[in-house]
Amino acid sequence: MKGAPVQRRRTRQRAAIRAALEAARRPLSVAEILELARRQVRGLGIATVYRAVAAMLEEGFLTPVEISGEALRYEVAGRGHHHHFRCRRCGRVFEMEGCVPEVELLAPPGFLPECHEILLSGLCRECNKGLSR
Ligand SMILES: [Zn+2]
Ligand SMILES: [Zn+2]
Repeated sequence: MKGAPVQRRRTRQRAAIRAALEAARRPLSVAEILELARRQVRGLGIATVYRAVAAMLEEGFLTPVEISGEALRYEVAGRGHHHHFRCRRCGRVFEMEGCVPEVELLAPPGFLPECHEILLSGLCRECNKGLSR
């Protein structure tokens, strides 16, 4: 049974999906994953992407990125503490390096902050260039 066509195809699809997520270096929605992975595997379907994403979440390869009011995005897990920038023009979400340690000093006196979320929004480099032309 080794190398059966169905199994081979699935392996190739998964590899393309994984490669798309790794190359993007930013959180992707299922629609974006589909668009990027299709460049490698023609005829790739959305159901396959959903199944692959579910499996990769289970394996711990991916982690979900939630921005309220939007479809979940997914990024490669294990990148360490970081935050995101959402471009209001193209809708893409980017990874920002590091954090602002002082942010937890904003907690009211006597409060113990345990975690935080930071989301910057505005224009990405490409969209910003487009506007200033
Ligand atoms: Zn943009
Ligand atoms: Zn932080």
